[in-house]
Amino acid sequence: VITASVAASKGRVLIIGATGFIGQFVAEASLDSGRATFVLARSFYASPSKAKTIKSLQDKGATVLHGVMKDQELMERLLKEHEIEIVISAVGGANILDQLTLVRAIKAVGTIKRFLPSEFGHDVDRADPVEPGLTMYKEKREIRRLIEECGVPYTYILCNSIASWPYYDNTHPSEVLPPLDQFQIYGDGTVKAYFVAGSDIGKFTMKAADDFRTLNKSVHFRPSCNCLNINELASLWEKKIGRVLPRVTVTEDDLLAAARENVIPQSIVASFTHDIFIKGCQVNFSIDGPDEVEVSDLYSDESFRTVDACFDDFVVKMEIDRRKSANEGITTKNHGIEVLPITATCA
Ligand code: NDP
Repeated sequence: VITASVAASKGRVLIIGATGFIGQFVAEASLDSGRATFVLARSFYASPSKAKTIKSLQDKGATVLHGVMKDQELMERLLKEHEIEIVISAVGGANILDQLTLVRAIKAVGTIKRFLPSEFGHDVDRADPVEPGLTMYKEKREIRRLIEECGVPYTYILCNSIASWPYYDNTHPSEVLPPLDQFQIYGDGTVKAYFVAGSDIGKFTMKAADDFRTLNKSVHFRPSCNCLNINELASLWEKKIGRVLPRVTVTEDDLLAAARENVIPQSIVASFTHDIFIKGCQVNFSIDGPDEVEVSDLYSDESFRTVDACFDDFVVKMEIDRRKSANEGITTKNHGIEVLPITATCA
């Protein structure tokens, strides 16, 4: 155990999956909020980048605990020994059921004030994507039912889409630039979705983590400034890069065919893309149940990063990549784009 000093003014947090895509945002936000933050990591890192992530979290004050979540005895010991009050899991889609043991450990310890299981997407009890996405939702539902049956205090974080271009075959799109050659538009491109910056997923998750108003509730992320359809997203990106790109339609049948191919994880993303941009699963219901709250209502004086600002980050990234390529003597790839002036019809 490598200990580091962090002011423990708020509940002590254990984050599982801190080296992952969503987990990193949550761990950073926990540290930023000044909480005593513990992260569970395996003894041997799968890649140098994972080791680097752990090192950087440690440098910011995280305490690293080694082990695996499936070891119930170890988890019980760690939770007790470090007086953990809040447990946040951000394990990936392939490991959702590993949380069954964790929930049992939390129940056995009996002192955990809040558990946030690995949700970070849609309301899995409400949404009904095609397979193979449905299987992941069934697993997330199974974890929810065990939590509720065990009487573990919980909060479900339903943050909708990450603010980036929603490629239908890419699991972590916020790491990839929006298109530079052509846009693939799902259906007629008019179905809206909510886009949330990774840093805001982390920030609002940590705000909700011990808020009494979110106890045993689902927290939906619906920032009104970031409710866009894919046509609007395309126009916004065109403004940033100063040119118009061709658009091709990806039909409902195309997405269903990509889902049916059952290539994991891409087909899971295709099934969610179908659910979001064809069926409208993020916007086709109102939040009015007794056990659900909306994050902008809870924290009305806090602002969300806009998609516009997130796209500015991509422009900066593009410029850095271009300079790096130029320095390395690599000729910038010609994407074969026909550069067209932006007209009113594209806005
Ligand atoms: P990743 O696959 O990027 O990361 C998973 C993390 O969990 C890694 O740190 C991994 O550790 C850790 N882990 C996995 N199994 C175990 C275990 N048994 N014990 C301890 N640690 C374990 O996950 P994602 O960030 O993609 O997914 C997290 C959640 O977010 C999921 O519920 C997913 O559905 C959701 N999500 C939502 C998105 C959105 O746009 N709203 C986008 C992407 C994901 P190690 O590094 O050692 O393997």
